Amino acid sequence: MSATFRGVLLSSALVAAAMAAGPLSAAPGSLPEDHRTLAKSTSYDGVAAFLESVDGKGPVTVSVEGKTAQGRSVFLVHASHGGNPPFRILFYAQQHGDEVSGKDALLYLVRDIVRDPALLPKDVDLWVMPMMNPDGAEAGTRKNSAGADLNRDHVTLFQPETEALHRVARRVKPHLAVDAHEFGRDSEEWTKKGWEKWPDITMDGLNNPHFDPERIAAARKRVDEAAGAEEKAGHRFLRYWVGGAPPDDEQRHSAPDTDGGLNGVGAYGGLSFIIEAAVRHHAKNPSADLGNRVDAYLVLFRRFVAGAGHRAGDLAVVERARKLPLPAFLPSDALWVNPGGTVTEFPVVEAATGTVRKVPTANLMTEVAVKRTVATPLGYSVVPEAAREIAALLNRHGLSFETLAAPRTVTAERCTLLRVEEEFDDVYSRYGGRTIVTRGNAKPVELPAGSLWVPLEGEGALRAAILLEPTAMYGLWQYPRLRALVAWDGTIPVLRVVGTSR
Ligand SMILES: [Zn+2]
Repeated sequence: MSATFRGVLLSSALVAAAMAAGPLSAAPGSLPEDHRTLAKSTSYDGVAAFLESVDGKGPVTVSVEGKTAQGRSVFLVHASHGGNPPFRILFYAQQHGDEVSGKDALLYLVRDIVRDPALLPKDVDLWVMPMMNPDGAEAGTRKNSAGADLNRDHVTLFQPETEALHRVARRVKPHLAVDAHEFGRDSEEWTKKGWEKWPDITMDGLNNPHFDPERIAAARKRVDEAAGAEEKAGHRFLRYWVGGAPPDDEQRHSAPDTDGGLNGVGAYGGLSFIIEAAVRHHAKNPSADLGNRVDAYLVLFRRFVAGAGHRAGDLAVVERARKLPLPAFLPSDALWVNPGGTVTEFPVVEAATGTVRKVPTANLMTEVAVKRTVATPLGYSVVPEAAREIAALLNRHGLSFETLAAPRTVTAERCTLLRVEEEFDDVYSRYGGRTIVTRGNAKPVELPAGSLWVPLEGEGALRAAILLEPTAMYGLWQYPRLRALVAWDGTIPVLRVVGTSR
């Protein structure tokens, strides 16, 4: 691993360039001693040089898991005392290239473990991908160099960065995963009201309605406990939310879809989290509080590594979840709601005075409601015309399937795509890309040779169902490249197989 890392990455020219960067820059590979004094986020070259400097030290090894379109490395750090530690953690940061502090915090976490290996418990196998989007990081953009938002790519895995992350997730099967982001605390809607967002850092747990309630509840408990831990360290914490300003605009917790890391990686069965630190984008120097953001991040990362009294419980919840049979019904439509119109006192900061105010609002959506379900089929078949593209998709997800060598008769339902709604839906606050699908009656169908057969069984069954279910409102047909596989009359190339004859 280390050999690959050095071979691929570090030419002496690169190190020389980093060293020549200027009199104020630290030596390559070194971070300011105290993370709270960090004045500038670590660049790609800085990350590369730092990882080179810690590779092979103490319990830490570094490898390259993937390459970006512009040829940069997606690094993977492994820290373990050996002997197959039972609890596996995966931290990944900077899918959005311009959201930096989670990456810097992870570098400090690794540095501290190298210096004091006792910070890594013996029962923890730690995996860290500190810089998921190095091309975007270098360009200062949210998206990668292909113009893709990596945190909307966890269904299609079209991008090499997300594909690399999912390869790691499948190999590691983390019991706990964290996706690190940032949000603007001085967004336009808020500053128009003279407000700034209150929290320094936010976190939420996985919430896709396909997932078992016990696992969702265990993650939620960790979210609720984070407030006290952050408060003790002098940081303001709220459960993650997005949306406009209270009380008129809707706000909701994190998206339940699987095209983001939170639920996309959560689909491998562990507890999964998203953390976002708050940035003042319009401040004279947005990096002025970088050290503070890194500090707030480290509070949560260190707690997850140390276990905070949850290790045995989390391990048991995840091991149970991974053995659960498929549910009888699959949710095909879900949305955030506020049952009973609960009023929340939402904290805001008066920008001019710094005074904290509580704004009562009933527009904070508190629960994910399932609006429609469909009976879980035995499996899915894919027509030969779409087999190549869907087989590639299944391969990127590491899901097994069979290509039929001879025709096979099954009982199946054909579905039809009526339309795709691309615009934001103001009434229900739903984003575009909604696929409106009708489901045909079950009848005998002869699957021609060359069809794919994807049975819903074994370890990947739930992930296959989430990926392929043709009636899902935010299913595969929202992506133009996959929508091109739908026939001219709307016939969807994935059939729901509900009976196998013979
Ligand atoms: Zn983000």
